[in-house]
Amino acid sequence: MFRICYSLITMRVVFHQSWSQYWRYPMKYLILLLSVPAILLAGEIYSLMNFKPVSEEQAELFSRLGFDVVQVYRDGSVDLVANSTDRRTLLENGLVAETRISDMEGFYRARNGSTDSMGGFYTWSEIDAWIDSLASANPSITSVQSIGDTYQGRPQRVMKISVNNSFDDDDPSMANAWYDGLIHAREGGAMRNIRYWMMWLCSNYQRNGYCGYQATWLLNNREIWCLPCNNVDGWVRNEVTNPSGGGMRRKNMNLTAGGGLDNGGIDLNRNWAVHWGGPGSSGSPSSQTYRGTGPLSEPESSNIDQFWQNHPPAQMHSTHTYSNVLIYPWGWTDQPTTHSAAYTASGEMMVQWATGEEHYPSWQFGYSAGNTRDHAYGLYGAMSWNHETGTSYMGFWPSPSDVVSMSRRNLRSYLVSACLAGCPYDPHEPGIPEVSPIGSVTPPFTVDWSDASYADYYVLQRLDSYQVLLEDSGDSGPFDRVNWNMTTNGPHSGTYCYVSNGDGTITWQGSVTIPDAGGGRISFWSKQNIAPQSSQGAFSYSPDGGANWYWLQTFGRNDMTWRHNIHELDEFQGKTLLFRWETNVSSSSSKLYIDDIKINVWGANSIQADNISSSQYSVTGVADGERWFRVWAVDNEFGPGWPSEPQMAQISGSAVEDFTEGIEPSVSVLGLITPNPVTCSAVIPVSVSASAKNVSLKVFDLSGRAVADLTSLLEPGRQQNLVWSVENLPSGVHFVRLSTSEGVINQRVVLSGR
Ligand SMILES: [Zn+2]
Repeated sequence: MFRICYSLITMRVVFHQSWSQYWRYPMKYLILLLSVPAILLAGEIYSLMNFKPVSEEQAELFSRLGFDVVQVYRDGSVDLVANSTDRRTLLENGLVAETRISDMEGFYRARNGSTDSMGGFYTWSEIDAWIDSLASANPSITSVQSIGDTYQGRPQRVMKISVNNSFDDDDPSMANAWYDGLIHAREGGAMRNIRYWMMWLCSNYQRNGYCGYQATWLLNNREIWCLPCNNVDGWVRNEVTNPSGGGMRRKNMNLTAGGGLDNGGIDLNRNWAVHWGGPGSSGSPSSQTYRGTGPLSEPESSNIDQFWQNHPPAQMHSTHTYSNVLIYPWGWTDQPTTHSAAYTASGEMMVQWATGEEHYPSWQFGYSAGNTRDHAYGLYGAMSWNHETGTSYMGFWPSPSDVVSMSRRNLRSYLVSACLAGCPYDPHEPGIPEVSPIGSVTPPFTVDWSDASYADYYVLQRLDSYQVLLEDSGDSGPFDRVNWNMTTNGPHSGTYCYVSNGDGTITWQGSVTIPDAGGGRISFWSKQNIAPQSSQGAFSYSPDGGANWYWLQTFGRNDMTWRHNIHELDEFQGKTLLFRWETNVSSSSSKLYIDDIKINVWGANSIQADNISSSQYSVTGVADGERWFRVWAVDNEFGPGWPSEPQMAQISGSAVEDFTEGIEPSVSVLGLITPNPVTCSAVIPVSVSASAKNVSLKVFDLSGRAVADLTSLLEPGRQQNLVWSVENLPSGVHFVRLSTSEGVINQRVVLSGR
């Protein structure tokens, strides 16, 4: 049987490549090499196979047999993970599949390398320890309890994150949002995504600025429940077999039904009660989708069901790897749910930062009767998601360098599902108000703004310093462009926008340092015509001078409508950030367009007023000087929407004396140097706070040699526009560097025509 199997199936081996080369995986790098005599090797071999049905009947048969499908392609083919049982089932049913990775454990082991902490994905005891450390660092908003033991007697530990942090107390006025990972023990990337979300909530709670407001609002209005490691036994088994990560055990460790140590166990994502035993689950104990002996037969699923009886979720967000899709009920039938319109609208909101992700009912991904989301939706009415995060090149165990990118990009979907827990069947978010110009005023003065949709109240924020670092409408701004062009073809505004031309990058030449108590924002418009699945665009930041880049957002769909993208940067306080857009696309006809890029930074800021019921506010008690005001709307069901652009108030005649803030810069900033390239002289906007120490402003050439020292021109405590004459310097790339005790800011300038 095995010999026939392997003569039918072409065996392939994948070489270890860097992530960027895998971008177009699997089309390009799967090279026919050799046949593996798998029967001679010890243990189970998991292979990644591609199946393309040749008829409707074959597609239907494949879907009902219950394979572990991990990627669905637009041409109707699918990738599946197959163990020896699955390979035999394929053969017995006359289904011919092609092997793309013959030994997945070996593949991940070779790629991820590290032998510590399961290749950076953490052992069970390490997960346990960070849950405890996060809880002990945030005692007022967290509590942790086991909701029951696994089959082998390990605790399933859930962290509650909420101001109502008593674990057993469920306040019905605070909607429940549920997050879990590792129901499938080999999906290490999923656990890291939830970890990032838990840490984001805790670290932003009560932070000043917008992100802090958002996190605090959520914890004041939600009970957020996180189970980062669901299938603990399977995870521990992977730790034993593959201590450096990459283990391929998916199911739990209840081996009583047969199948043996390697292939036995129950697929916990087929063990739930709603239409248990239906299509897409297997009755064979050695199958990857074995459903168990009855609905909720396994403690791992029945513990959660018990928990949901007491804490019914409004949103259920179960994270898996991989495939870049958000799938929702039903998985047991191809009939639509009564909430299919709400699912479509919610899914669209959730992929705002990940337009490479698609969203659709899960039967389209393959039937999966007895899955978590059908149960949570069918029995508890939760809007339920199976979030298959990451691209196929990342796989189950993304390279450690991709984990932060993936987690950061996915943050928006976690945030939105927590917000939507307040309006699960009526997804909506507040619009963005527009603040009217303010100008020269004497307190008390009125700040007015336009009404925003779904606004129950407004929040007025005051910025005590504000600087525009970049405002570029695609017209040859300070960017390094590699295979990106300017085009007059349909700009969002002005004459030009930027457009990719195949693989390439467009990198801002400046940097922004977010002050310790300050904030910032980058916004831009985008449209895209990128084939999903095989190609991708990304918008990334680097917090370490360009050594590492992490996604804030990815692109990958055909959507030629201009969309506004906003990234608030308060949570990067104390960091210096670079920004770039990149495209990794298979052809130059796959294009990402960007236009109207704005980068702003500010120092001290505060909430001037919260809970404002009208669209204006009378400001008093603010000292003379320049202040900026911006507004966001809050919907009682969803939470805060995006903030407006700020408007400046030039305040004079105030009765208030402000000794602490005044008009002095509260933070040191290096503004955008113009013109750039420089031929004779340039203006350097700079402000150094009075409290800064060890201040210097110097110019360096590419070899790192200081060629000019402008430090003596600086006047701390003032905003200055220094005129810099470059007469005696050679042509070429230079860096202007402002260095203070608050940090270092570099800006690249090109001297030309010398
Ligand atoms: Zn999974």
